[in-house]
Amino acid sequence: SINYDKICQLLIIGDTSVGKTSLITRYTNGTFKEEYLATVGLDYHTKIEDINNQTIQIKLWDTAGQERFKSLTQNLFRNAEGVLLVFDVSKNETFYNLKDWIASIKKNIESQNMFIPLVILGNKIDLGGREVSTEDAENFANENKYKYFETSAKTGEGVDNAIRELVSMVISQNNQNDYQKQARINSVQIKKDDIEKTNEKKKGCC
Ligand code: GDP
Ligand code: MG
Repeated sequence: SINYDKICQLLIIGDTSVGKTSLITRYTNGTFKEEYLATVGLDYHTKIEDINNQTIQIKLWDTAGQERFKSLTQNLFRNAEGVLLVFDVSKNETFYNLKDWIASIKKNIESQNMFIPLVILGNKIDLGGREVSTEDAENFANENKYKYFETSAKTGEGVDNAIRELVSMVISQNNQNDYQKQARINSVQIKKDDIEKTNEKKKGCC
């Protein structure tokens, strides 16, 4: 078995047929299939990567059935540390739907008081008949303060880069959370020491 320092769990979401399963297959297996096979249930694939001097097992959760933003549930986000939100640059509608996806994600995450890094992927850039320009997609992402990447699951262009970037964001978010946790632990220890000192003083004076 391969050793790794950390597991990083990512969730991939977006409209049906934008290429979510294809992106995961490209990333974890290096392959691509032209025919459409509907994803059944919730499925994951893994890949080991060295990122920021750490060996990370990246666990990518593929969604199906949850493909309409209205059906996203808090449960889906329970273990997610990062989100890949995908649209198809050859289908305007999948781009327009991003705002509803984001609203739904925020609703699910905010109610759990969590912060989860998210990146937007414009997929199928290998296709000729493009309906969404890079500029429009970048503007939308900037307005919402998300990073935007263009990908092709077919050629592999941009795929590794986008996923590795999200993993880096997750690692720094985790480090921040660890730092906050550590700060809380330290503050508890200080209080405990203070109590012991107070007790010693009491002993000393009586
Ligand atoms: P999902 O429903 O989001 O999981 O989408 P799939 O990964 O199943 O892909 C839907 C269809 O789009 C399939 O026929 C894929 O072969 C095709 N597809 C996915 N990604 C790309 C891409 O980057 N370029 C092209 N040309 N086709 C793609
Ligand atoms: Mg799928």
